[in-house]
Amino acid sequence: MPSYLEQQISYLVERNEEANGLILARPRDDDLVLQYMVLTNFREGVHLHADKKRAKVAQALLKRMSGCGYRTMHFHTHSNGTVGRAPQLATHFSRGDVEFYKQQSRKDPAFTALLVTPQKKLLYGLGGHVLAPGDSIFGAGEVRPILSALEIVLADRGLPFGTFVSLGMP
Ligand SMILES: [Zn+2]
Repeated sequence: MPSYLEQQISYLVERNEEANGLILARPRDDDLVLQYMVLTNFREGVHLHADKKRAKVAQALLKRMSGCGYRTMHFHTHSNGTVGRAPQLATHFSRGDVEFYKQQSRKDPAFTALLVTPQKKLLYGLGGHVLAPGDSIFGAGEVRPILSALEIVLADRGLPFGTFVSLGMP
């Protein structure tokens, strides 16, 4: 996991709102190199579903990037706000999370997920893999094609790039 993603995720976890997103990752040997996250929702609540507009942007981005060898990872936080309401969620997936993951794994055996809480980062669907800092195996230039594709996807929909990639919901 590159440090800019780590920073983005730490920021999200400190908030009251919960975040939901898709991370684009590239397989390398037996590992997955996490590269870029599209937030699909960010608001207060537990068990967030993806916001429709953002989910469509994420799907369109994946379609544009398909054939480039990316895989996706489901992402969500149990933020400070979540954990304040339900302390057990600081260290565990919720029952709803596990049900959703099982359902997704039936549709796609390669389904993977990352849950981040103020205390832990939990992976689902990756066997014995652990998260490791990955700047040394990550070229900063690799994210550029993703950003260009995202710019095109947003322009097609008349959505401003800045607003979309920041936390405000367009
Ligand atoms: Zn959850």
